[in-house]
Amino acid sequence: MNQYYDAVIIGAGLSGLAAAWELAGMKIAVLEKEAAAGGRVKTGAFGSFHYDLGAIFRLESTLLPFALGQHEIMDESEKVGLLYNGQLFFGTGVMSCIGSVGGRLREEARSAFYKFHEDQTPDYNTMSQDCQEVLSAFFQVIHPGELSSYIPTRQRDACVKHSCSHLVSGNAAIIDSFLSSLGSKCELWLNTEVEAVIQETGIVRIICNKAGERQELLARTVLVTVPAPLARTMITQIDSPSQAFLKSLAYGAGVVVAVGIKGASIPDFAYLVTPQLSTSTIIQHHTLDKQVRVLLVYYAGAKAAALKTMTDDVVVEGTIQELINLEFCQRQQIIFTDIQRWDYLGPIINTQSYGQWDKQAVKPSAQVFLAGEYVAVADGRDIMPYGMAAALQAGAEQGRAARALLEAAEDFVRYQDTFLVDVYTYRLDGSRPVFIKHSEEGNIAFYGLILQATGDIRLQQYLISASLNGLWEYQTGFGVTAEDSALVLEGLWETGTDRQFLLRSLEKLVEQFYDQDAGAFCTIRKGRAKYWQGASADATGMIGYLLACLAPTEYQSQIAACVEHVRRTQNEQGFWRGKWFPSYLITTWYSLRLLSAVDTENHMAAMAKAVSYVLKKQQDNGSWNLSVIDTAAALLTLRQAKSANNKSLPALHQAMLAAKHWLIHSSGKRPCGEPVLYYLFEEENWLQERLNHTLFFHCQDKGQIAAAWRQLALRGGNEHEK
Ligand SMILES: Cc1cc2nc3c(=O)[nH]c(=O)nc-3n(C[C@H](O)[C@H](O)[C@H](O)COP(=O)(O)OP(=O)(O)OC[C@H]3O[C@@H](n4cnc5c(N)ncnc54)[C@H](O)[C@@H]3O)c2cc1C
Repeated sequence: MNQYYDAVIIGAGLSGLAAAWELAGMKIAVLEKEAAAGGRVKTGAFGSFHYDLGAIFRLESTLLPFALGQHEIMDESEKVGLLYNGQLFFGTGVMSCIGSVGGRLREEARSAFYKFHEDQTPDYNTMSQDCQEVLSAFFQVIHPGELSSYIPTRQRDACVKHSCSHLVSGNAAIIDSFLSSLGSKCELWLNTEVEAVIQETGIVRIICNKAGERQELLARTVLVTVPAPLARTMITQIDSPSQAFLKSLAYGAGVVVAVGIKGASIPDFAYLVTPQLSTSTIIQHHTLDKQVRVLLVYYAGAKAAALKTMTDDVVVEGTIQELINLEFCQRQQIIFTDIQRWDYLGPIINTQSYGQWDKQAVKPSAQVFLAGEYVAVADGRDIMPYGMAAALQAGAEQGRAARALLEAAEDFVRYQDTFLVDVYTYRLDGSRPVFIKHSEEGNIAFYGLILQATGDIRLQQYLISASLNGLWEYQTGFGVTAEDSALVLEGLWETGTDRQFLLRSLEKLVEQFYDQDAGAFCTIRKGRAKYWQGASADATGMIGYLLACLAPTEYQSQIAACVEHVRRTQNEQGFWRGKWFPSYLITTWYSLRLLSAVDTENHMAAMAKAVSYVLKKQQDNGSWNLSVIDTAAALLTLRQAKSANNKSLPALHQAMLAAKHWLIHSSGKRPCGEPVLYYLFEEENWLQERLNHTLFFHCQDKGQIAAAWRQLALRGGNEHEK
């Protein structure tokens, strides 16, 4: 399977789904560690009762990129409460609630609120501990950390009263709608934990564990939506603004206990803060059954940390006990409980993280984007965001940025749709070839040659994308072969592709195409094309050379065997002939190149024999067979031999000069029609039965292949008139 994607999104929370929405239509996968999408949006159920264990307040549905549809909404009380010195105080806002407490607390809180609003520099430390605790309790209704550690603009959240209206079916309805609206436009991989995101040259490699199995994916872009501390360990290479930002982001933990209660008379409030209890906030939700309420009991900041070593049962029991002590219910009225622990409830927005919060920080490397809630930049408001709306905004923004990056490289489609070869198919019926049809082929491997010649970085990306598990085909759907893979690998190597990537491909090549008995590489190992069975001089020369250059110690024995095979198969006259390339000069070039790369001294005689043959075949006009490809291959061969020999040979020099001259002066015409591949197949009918005919495919270059050979041969070399 080709595990290559335009975009891979890590995390199926709101940010990840919003990013997927923006990228829909491209080849995308969303990888999610858990068994369900949603992340910090998580709804539990007890029979027909739903309760939110994660994000709870209602998200403005107009923020969603699709219509949410009809969902029943439950409105809650207007009142908020404060438990202070064992007494409950209520009000319609935070200030009126504190006001009902009276005394010094009200005065202090009023002046603190005033400062939050007006000068934004409240001196929190001069307040009494009681006042600090109460303000922090109201602050922690939505934030995981202590108020004192936040930036002043965010501290103002302590004064905000939140509406507790909610979807009866819980916020998971938003996730379900997202998934059904996305439909098959993206792949969702659940139970898939990403371990590493590695930026390589032109591509990102993602290592993950899918239900216990290690998987690797390649992507043109990656969007990381997991909480910042996880992103920091997952992304292996992070450029500096991002590094500093991610480092500065600390997260607070939290615990939510849901308690379903039937038949109790609980006071009228939407939520209640409890600074002096072990709990932080108690949120009250009505249900469609008038008798049943769900109390969502929150623990944040230091209170959540205090529960770390307790078992779930102990935490739930402690919560029940607090509710009974408050006389909100009796034990027998409890119909269900549930608990959820969050290691990463949300980011703590302190001066350090706020200082690093920067538009540039969203890009850890060339093709990796940070897209979690913490990177949203609210228009016109200088305040670092948090929450569902921020998650949606961040995911959508970074999704659009990734799409723009992908669209800028849309030449991919061009490569895929542009075939390099004209194919003339003949039926060989014994007496004479009968022409059957003309078609076009070759949209992958020969691009490796063009990449080698041009160094076009988008072509490099395209070829990486066309990889089938590290190997390549001649054309989509034709199946991988050793020569096709070697052609592409040469191009990738030439353009500085990550060495690990190349080594993995070489490993695959050896695994699949090296024939131990023959001591050589084969074009294919099995299949119906008899013509290509057995050792291949082309594959052996090409791959032997790649191994010798890229992994000489790892593949010592295979390299030695390839060299031996090349020595053995040299024709008496000095050249080599392969089956894959029609031009014997190409096979000669690849063979001689391998000999000159390994133990040159020992192969001088073989190389001299080859050179002498090549020189003999040069025409008076400087070309070989009036062919650009043959002339380029011959020139490369002579140049290689010359540099291995290190002697000044006048005949060689003259021949190279003439070849170069011919290549330069033939460049005015577009060289097309040169044969680049032949192959034979037994003809089959639609029942896949063999007929008694052989089909012969004659593949001719449309022009780009010969041009690449010419470019390669003219590049480098210091032949000039003396
Ligand atoms: C208890 C609680 C109450 C909240 N209340 C509100 C509220 O009322 N209003 C509000 O606006 N916001 C609230 N929030 C915050 C809100 O839930 C988040 O801001 C928002 O959901 C974040 O979405 P996200 O996609 O950025 O991150 P997440 O939802 O955290 O998504 C990240 C995803 O990445 C996955 N993941 C992590 N590591 C890996 C890995 N290695 N490989 C693959 N996947 C991985 C996670 O499983 C998760 O699904 C609350 C949060 C909590 C916890």
